[in-house]
Amino acid sequence: MKLKERYDVIIAGTGPAGAGAARALKGSGLETLAVERSKLPRYKMCSGIVFPSSRKIIEQDFGKIPPNVMCEPVITKGNRVFITNDTPMIDVPFSAFDEGDGLEEEGFNTWRADLDLWLMNQSDAEIADQCSFESFRREDGEYLVELGYQGIRSLARTRYLIGADGTLSRVRRSIFPEFNKKINKLPNYEEIHTGSIDLEPGWLYLFMDRSVTGYFATVFHKDDKIVVVTGVNEKESVKNYFKAFKSHLEQNHGLKSDSVQSRHGIVLTDMSARKNYCLGVDNVLLAGEAGGFLRGGEGITSSLVSGKAAGEAVLESVKKKRPAIKYFRELAADELQKCEHIHASLSAIMGYNVFMRP
Ligand SMILES: Cc1cc2nc3c(=O)[nH]c(=O)nc-3n(C[C@H](O)[C@H](O)[C@H](O)COP(=O)(O)OP(=O)(O)OC[C@H]3O[C@@H](n4cnc5c(N)ncnc54)[C@H](O)[C@@H]3O)c2cc1C
Repeated sequence: MKLKERYDVIIAGTGPAGAGAARALKGSGLETLAVERSKLPRYKMCSGIVFPSSRKIIEQDFGKIPPNVMCEPVITKGNRVFITNDTPMIDVPFSAFDEGDGLEEEGFNTWRADLDLWLMNQSDAEIADQCSFESFRREDGEYLVELGYQGIRSLARTRYLIGADGTLSRVRRSIFPEFNKKINKLPNYEEIHTGSIDLEPGWLYLFMDRSVTGYFATVFHKDDKIVVVTGVNEKESVKNYFKAFKSHLEQNHGLKSDSVQSRHGIVLTDMSARKNYCLGVDNVLLAGEAGGFLRGGEGITSSLVSGKAAGEAVLESVKKKRPAIKYFRELAADELQKCEHIHASLSAIMGYNVFMRP
């Protein structure tokens, strides 16, 4: 695909935030380019549970989720939580979080690579993969964006730029170079095993004991695989905690691994837990985790909603000829409140802020 010299909107990142923005712009006539630095479909380290709230938004805005993005067991009933390694497991079905929003009771188990690509394809944006956003500068009232497309540097002009490029957002860094120094980056490590475990499929198992995690460790089934994950605080060794978690699963939950299929790492940030959001400036907007949107551990919903708000803010800005950030702040306000509400509820249950645990 040959990139054009000029677009109305460039979206960096094709996760749910990018897809939410692209979908909101569909049919608007605005020429939109979505760039993704990885080759699509790209692996995304995530439990891949479409919570009932994401399910509702996807079904309303994108359509019925196709079976090819799901994995077995397709239905996820909720979380099963071990507050400590010595306390009994507590069932927390998704319905426990329903605050009269009329949600389905069950979530779906998906492979994020396939879900995200399907979501992106429900827009009319041009999609360029292996195309990384590098930097931008303001020029003649527009933005001149530097992209690395299949290894070659290229430039494109745009009126609006949406950073939907995840936790370590380069778009955010381009606007606020100092911002990353003020956030904690929380490493997560995952191994995908074949084998068996004595835990009933169809639930997302959360382990909160401080000996196995900095906030929570998870284990869940995906097709014939068992996915084991833990996350830690910025200065801790994720590999050491992972070793402790795996050993706990072997000794107490019958984990037997035949082989490790793959290993992955990713960082979360504590932006949302600290209400340290970063929404952008002028006509550069930050959606999804780039902006700090995260409902506790549930990020797909927040990213879809904030991405949609960014797309709609662009439409308002075009209509009213005022900077998009003004409309984005208004349209995203409700989602920021939801994020805060969920962090506050989690803190009330646990007695500490889950992402700021000593
Ligand atoms: C271990 C773990 C488990 C989780 N489980 C769940 C779950 O079960 N359910 C749930 O709802 N949430 C879950 N989350 C949260 C969820 O994964 C994220 O909140 C969500 O993916 C954020 O979406 P996003 O679109 O903001 O960013 P992402 O999904 O991270 O997408 C950002 C995209 O931008 C691309 N990109 C980055 N830099 C550039 C660049 N310079 N140029 C171009 N492209 C770029 C990346 O390759 C990526 O494709 C989990 C998170 C973690 C870490």
